[in-house]
Amino acid sequence: MARYTGPVCKICRREGMKLFLKGERCYTEKCAQGRRPYPPGQHGQARIKMSEYAVRLREKQKLRRIYGVVERQFQKYYFDATRRKGRTGEEMMGLLESRLDNVVHRLGFASSRSEARQLVKHNHILVNGKRVNIPSFVVLPGHKIEVHEASRKSVFIQAALAQVEKRPMLTWLELDKANFSGVMKGPPQREELNEPAIREQLIVEYYSR
Ligand code: SF4
Repeated sequence: MARYTGPVCKICRREGMKLFLKGERCYTEKCAQGRRPYPPGQHGQARIKMSEYAVRLREKQKLRRIYGVVERQFQKYYFDATRRKGRTGEEMMGLLESRLDNVVHRLGFASSRSEARQLVKHNHILVNGKRVNIPSFVVLPGHKIEVHEASRKSVFIQAALAQVEKRPMLTWLELDKANFSGVMKGPPQREELNEPAIREQLIVEYYSR
């Protein structure tokens, strides 16, 4: 599946908020959104009043870019969510949170989702003891995620794990740092996913227009 390979800080500046796409750099004063908090481009600092449609479009783009998925895949998450019993927006957030690359990042094995995606694609991650190299693999409650034994000396993984205490661990995940493994204890909880803030109702309105 194709993916965006351009400058990621421009994405945050376009959306007007930190989306935490670059790992540790996002927490330093080098963050581009902190230094230039206006959209990129020649007219970035011009005052533009957004239409109702544009507000919803930007919210959708924001969420899509946080998880690094392309439009078609993102639409699929939306339509899958509409077929579920709960609120569509929350179900969609839950589906995105259950992606293997996201869980690897949330557990602290990678400092960003793009780094986690690399780890998964390069066969460094096991799910219930078996190698899985599909970043969109859906992690279910009870699944055990671990770093392959041969990959545990990786400086990237070690550096990411060294920072893990700085972020609060989500209640539905349990990390066993010593054994480079973690378990998904239950379904993702929407109220814990507020950083950065997303108004998923606007995304539902965008697709149901
Ligand atoms: Fe770049 Fe991270 Fe700052 Fe976004 S939050 S602008 S990705 S450093």
